[in-house]
Amino acid sequence: MSKYQVLLYYLYVPIEDPEQFAAEHLAFCKSLNLKGRILVANEGINGTLSGLTEDTKKYMEHMHADARFKDTFFKIDPSEEQSFKKMFVRARPELVSLSLEDDINPLELTGAYLSPSEFKEAILDEETVVIDARNDYEYDLGHFKGAVRPDIRSFRELPQWIRDNKETFMDKRVVTYCTGGIRCEKFSGWLVREGFKDVGQLHGGIATYGRDPEVQGELWDGAMYVFDERISVPINHVNPIIVGRDWFDGTPSERYVNCGNPECNRQILCSEENEAKYVRGCSHECRVHDRNRYIEENDLTNDEWKTRIEALGEEFIFIVK
Ligand SMILES: [Zn+2]
Repeated sequence: MSKYQVLLYYLYVPIEDPEQFAAEHLAFCKSLNLKGRILVANEGINGTLSGLTEDTKKYMEHMHADARFKDTFFKIDPSEEQSFKKMFVRARPELVSLSLEDDINPLELTGAYLSPSEFKEAILDEETVVIDARNDYEYDLGHFKGAVRPDIRSFRELPQWIRDNKETFMDKRVVTYCTGGIRCEKFSGWLVREGFKDVGQLHGGIATYGRDPEVQGELWDGAMYVFDERISVPINHVNPIIVGRDWFDGTPSERYVNCGNPECNRQILCSEENEAKYVRGCSHECRVHDRNRYIEENDLTNDEWKTRIEALGEEFIFIVK
């Protein structure tokens, strides 16, 4: 048994007074020395936590003893250390945002649940459209073979993108997936409401698919992006490949950094070498931004900064220091 565990879970269930619940729940999590991030809303709870194995077990027991959360399914990963630095429990208006005027309640409307084996069959069927319901940087690190990558930067832009491309999918079977399943509960419900006839979702998400003894993550290319310090975790245990590509030179990479420009913060894949060469900027504007964090963190002088920019064949005009 590993010393630590990482838990990932969600449950759509009515929760009254999320603010008060969040405050009490935070105190409880801290009493168990757990770290991570939990969101609470009137529509339910969504969390990812790490802690000593015995403490995470106490947490799950506590949750299952509460009538509201007795059906919570926890996805569990072994870990050698804490995967988060802090513990947050936050009340939010909704668990996942699709920026809908009329929100979806997955308890009333959602797509058909597909087991990992059923989902694998769907991927192999050429008449089925597989839509990735995550952010672009998550797709770029890894995704199901042949899955559609919506041309969006954030999950909440997905409904508009679907409306713009509706003709392509309308008459086909559509299946969708996300990390742990929570985003698809809402997104697939929305697809049904939009009039799509045959909508399926990967139950338990990619995390469950990677752990399923039958499919063993097959047909997943690359790694899965996770929102903790691990950043990427393996899914395909049969024939894994790397699909992540360096932002700057297109070579295989699974190393993420945030753009050095704090106002951009875009997640980009790159080698350490290219990070230094491009001073961690995703664009020229970001590279010469006066608050570029790479410059600060590495104590680069203005001269060194200028030299690197000019080595890229670009002009260094912007100096405010
Ligand atoms: Zn940038």
